[in-house]
Amino acid sequence: MHRLSEEDLALQQAARTFADELIPHEVEIELAGGEVPHALAEQQRARARELGLVATNIAREYGGAGATTLQQVLVQEQGGRVTNALAWVMATPPGWLPSVATAYQRQRWLEPTVRGDATECYAITEEYAGSDVADLAATARRDGDDYVLDGEKWHVTSYNEATYAFFQARLQGGEHDGEHAMFFVDLPSPGVRVVRTPAYSHTIGHHHPIVAFESVRVPAANLVGAEGDGMTFAHEWFRFERLMVAARCLGAADRLVEEATAFATTRMVGGQPLADHQLVAAMLADSVTELVAARTLVYAVARAIDDGADRKVAHAQCSMAKLYASEMAGRVADRAVQVFGGRGYMRENVAERFYRELRVERIWEGASEVQRVIIARQLGKLGLRELT
Ligand SMILES: Cc1cc2nc3c(=O)[nH]c(=O)nc-3n(C[C@H](O)[C@H](O)[C@H](O)COP(=O)(O)OP(=O)(O)OC[C@H]3O[C@@H](n4cnc5c(N)ncnc54)[C@H](O)[C@@H]3O)c2cc1C
Repeated sequence: MHRLSEEDLALQQAARTFADELIPHEVEIELAGGEVPHALAEQQRARARELGLVATNIAREYGGAGATTLQQVLVQEQGGRVTNALAWVMATPPGWLPSVATAYQRQRWLEPTVRGDATECYAITEEYAGSDVADLAATARRDGDDYVLDGEKWHVTSYNEATYAFFQARLQGGEHDGEHAMFFVDLPSPGVRVVRTPAYSHTIGHHHPIVAFESVRVPAANLVGAEGDGMTFAHEWFRFERLMVAARCLGAADRLVEEATAFATTRMVGGQPLADHQLVAAMLADSVTELVAARTLVYAVARAIDDGADRKVAHAQCSMAKLYASEMAGRVADRAVQVFGGRGYMRENVAERFYRELRVERIWEGASEVQRVIIARQLGKLGLRELT
């Protein structure tokens, strides 16, 4: 249906093979509170690398796989079939970084990240600045050859695994007073401390602590790009990550439809398979139809980017992909729980885990309402023909 090249199919198959190897570990990891034993995590990381599934988004000249956008989607889609974030070992280092990083920054942070020797986390959101990231209260003040950083960041995903953070703040003083800037902060660093590590709905080994940055001193060489560039990076990151969220939602829905269908065709109720009861059949039919629609949209957006789509058009279309695929996956998970009945409420059941895990896909990287605002704004500015 989607006319994939030989190379696309090979990468998709490698990712599918890897996802199928991860799936048998899900229940054990769920029941262990999400923590993956160190040796197993190392083995999974090595396997992802061996199969060429790491840094697909990074150009070959920086050590990445240099995959097309469509291929990146195909890989992340397969990762989305796995619960408990086990597939996050198919890491996508910051793809926006090569074009703005200095030679020193590439060698110090980017290349080790691509090699798997360093891990990043993003310290951007604050208690009162999430959807409206422009409202950050964190500050960065130039002091001689250094910057001094202050602020409290929320939901810092993978902080417990990270060797450095991207810290975004508002400049205080100087020519760019009030504008945004982003910095590399090595972890641990003096002045950086975890305030607390809240529990979240999903059960994964990556924590999302609240982290305080108190008079953290970093060299001016840690400034990413130029003063005032902070928001530009955030936009580029959002475009990429929204499409990858959409891709993972396709994988989750695919797995749910497959497993719910397998159950419904074998579970006998009232002398006939569940799937023959029309109300259950309708749930399966709606789910697979919405999955196909979402996949068609997401692949089309990826292909358009590979064909050099206009940046603003791509921005709106990535929002459409994320909005539709995340809401589709939420509906599919809800129906899957229903099809499984009481089993679907047990943590050992894939539908139960996805029902909790997929909820955040409608919140992070821009809530559904924010995506709708972006899409409608671009519809007004660019017009229907450009966006479709
Ligand atoms: C598990 C998890 C991991 C995360 N990881 C990271 C991370 O690693 N780094 C990081 O910096 N951040 C991270 N975040 C933060 C995430 O990006 C924000 O939660 C998200 O952008 C929403 O911001 P908020 O929570 O402040 O919600 P708010 O901005 O308070 O919005 C609340 C709700 O209001 C509505 N809303 C908001 N704006 C509008 C609008 N303009 N129009 C209409 N309705 C609106 C939406 O329904 C939204 O859900 C993470 C969050 C979670 C839950």
